[in-house]
Amino acid sequence: MAYLVECRVGGYVVDAGRVAGEARRRGARRILLQLPDGLKPLSRRLAECLERATGAEVVVHGDSVFGACDLQLGKASLLKPDLIVHVGHTPYPPELADGSEPPDYVVFDPAFYESSVPAGVVEEAAGILARRGVGRVAVVGSVQHARILPSVAEALRGAGVEAEVPRGDPPFFLDGQVLGCDYRVALRSRADGFVFVGGGLFHPLGLYLATRKPVVKIDPYTLRVEDVTPTGERFLKVRLFKVSQAMGSKRWGIILGLKTGQYRPWLYSRLKRLMDERGVEYRVYAAEATGADLVRSIDEPWFEAFVVTSCPRIPIDDVQDYPKPVLTPGEAVMALRGELSPYRFPW
Ligand code: SF4
Repeated sequence: MAYLVECRVGGYVVDAGRVAGEARRRGARRILLQLPDGLKPLSRRLAECLERATGAEVVVHGDSVFGACDLQLGKASLLKPDLIVHVGHTPYPPELADGSEPPDYVVFDPAFYESSVPAGVVEEAAGILARRGVGRVAVVGSVQHARILPSVAEALRGAGVEAEVPRGDPPFFLDGQVLGCDYRVALRSRADGFVFVGGGLFHPLGLYLATRKPVVKIDPYTLRVEDVTPTGERFLKVRLFKVSQAMGSKRWGIILGLKTGQYRPWLYSRLKRLMDERGVEYRVYAAEATGADLVRSIDEPWFEAFVVTSCPRIPIDDVQDYPKPVLTPGEAVMALRGELSPYRFPW
């Protein structure tokens, strides 16, 4: 499906007509363009295209933008943009943050990647699933690839696999769309395994941790197929070890996120309540950057364990090698309750 007015850059397509309509409605003179780092090399061409479509000045936000959880409205307001165009994500689900909807001057565009997956590639994925004894499959992906999920499901059915694309929850989730911290769309399905369509390991690894079911990845950029299950199993073992390390810890650091979509008061209350009930001491830190550098800078012998409530991928992808346990919220709940099963990811 083509947009009426579109920007096609590097294989991605952005709905420039919608941006132009919103810019017109607001009489926009300055637009701030936000993209994740992976799409930054397209920023110059995309900015030019959006300037042509809107007649407004387009300034590119140069800071890393990790997700729709990271709109950086405070910093952005210095530039006084009339419109923020946030490319590469759908809006962050407000119930996971502090309940606030994104402001109406932010336009989200998924930046769909134009691709198709050849039948041979799908058959290879079907073969792996069959060897793993998976009969019913849900086809999911990161947002850039949401458009091709139905065709992958159809090709899987052609290869004899029972396949569906689980229903989304617009505007936050398109059908089959998963986030690195939210796999509710995948969990809606009663499938006993997943085909993930997208690049990298970030999303499929999270999918395994959230479901503990086989995950086969189809990479639409390289057209390679990979069974992510063994990597997921390896990470799960490490995570369970971290949980067991933190069990019985009496002095915790709670790290809260101050990015727009990463401030989660509901999680903070839950953890505080659990710690108070168990007579656990804690010190609370709040920051925008809640990664390994912060943990290293605040750590001292008093702390036995940490929990990060901002992005649940930080403990897994960024601080996994830290000598003390640094846990996701779900893992901290397990450790505080003294439970190793079921594994909770992410909350
Ligand atoms: S995984 Fe982390 S960076 Fe990605 S949307 Fe969730 S909180 Fe944001």
